[in-house]
Amino acid sequence: MQNKIKWGRLKRIAQKISGKNVDIYGSTRMSPEIRSAVEFNGGRADIGINLKQVKNVQEVIEALAHELAHVVLGDSAHTEEHKKKWRELTDKIKVKYEEEE
Ligand SMILES: [Zn+2]
Repeated sequence: MQNKIKWGRLKRIAQKISGKNVDIYGSTRMSPEIRSAVEFNGGRADIGINLKQVKNVQEVIEALAHELAHVVLGDSAHTEEHKKKWRELTDKIKVKYEEEE
């Protein structure tokens, strides 16, 4: 993996996985204990990434997969099902991300 984070590619992958119009925002203003956050309704999902916590491709993919698991399940709870989906999507995003290199 390269150091450069390809945000456009991550957005496209997130859209494919969720079937929604996804935007990703980086912020230095989020609470220090929060790595990322998501808001979704209808055909949209907005994903916030805490830039003070999430700094490399690996961490971005993990944060993105965590939030997308909420979107795909339509649930903001941290259940076992969410954990499973999170792991599954982390692997899926990694593969797709590297595919396009
Ligand atoms: Zn969560």
